[in-house]
Amino acid sequence: MTELLFNLQIDCESTQHALKDAALGERAIRGLGDILAATETKGTFFVIPGDIETHAVIYRELEKAGHEIGLHIHPAEEGANEFLGVQGADEQRRLISQAADRFAQAMGRRPVSFCPGYFSANDFTFGVLEELGFRHGAVSCPTRNLPQCASMWGASPLDPHYAHRYNRALSGDVDFVELPPTLDPDSRMWGGAHPMDLRVELVDAKNHWYTVDKAVRRQLAGKAPVKQIHALTHNVFEYGDRNNFRRETYLGIVQAARQIAGREGLTFQPSTLKEIAGAFRKASPLSTTSSTQPALDTRGRSFQQP
Ligand SMILES: [Zn+2]
Repeated sequence: MTELLFNLQIDCESTQHALKDAALGERAIRGLGDILAATETKGTFFVIPGDIETHAVIYRELEKAGHEIGLHIHPAEEGANEFLGVQGADEQRRLISQAADRFAQAMGRRPVSFCPGYFSANDFTFGVLEELGFRHGAVSCPTRNLPQCASMWGASPLDPHYAHRYNRALSGDVDFVELPPTLDPDSRMWGGAHPMDLRVELVDAKNHWYTVDKAVRRQLAGKAPVKQIHALTHNVFEYGDRNNFRRETYLGIVQAARQIAGREGLTFQPSTLKEIAGAFRKASPLSTTSSTQPALDTRGRSFQQP
């Protein structure tokens, strides 16, 4: 029986200068730990260095409980320009490797998964991540078009893929499995700049149902090698409060994914992003893939002919 892998990504940044509320961050991750346990689902926490240093004990517990802990970065916290996507390769290498060192100090191991703030990246990013030993992550947000955050993704792949060495929006042969969040590219928000994605705090559970449904149908129709749903949120909401609306919304997303999986005859399989990347690597080994070779589109030429 085919599986529907399901993950919740949590970007953890409660110690950021803009927020500076480590107590809220702690309540949120403890609350999320409880919700993940109650729903029998798995989380991937992407954590900025300030948060990992403050809450290392809790992240070690979450890791022991089967969740994944990876690295998140907001470069302004390191005194650089806030957006990774405006930095050159050397600067990205320096910022990410310094943040990884702080992560390693706190967790006792190097991070292997990565997500940049704002999904801000450029054509250097995936090569740098591969070089630094990262294996997978959520770097892209397909169809997001936010130049003000250096987060421009065009029609980049919606499904898990190996990143391209020279072009962030294509699939290629970089030994890094890119796992974009689940989204509906046809449903636009923020004046068309951002797609409806499975961000818990974006809309209510009823709206998220349609995004899950459409994503599952699309993957089945396209015979995606791995069927998966990848929701996301941040550790800045009161997830510990039983009456919290975001908490209710997440419960609704899980219910939707379970129901749609059942309808399609898929087994609902709670997963970390590491496990989704592993399933993808198994189904599509890197050695058998080749970089996207865009075909020349000559349709425009016909207009020049008499
Ligand atoms: Zn962030």
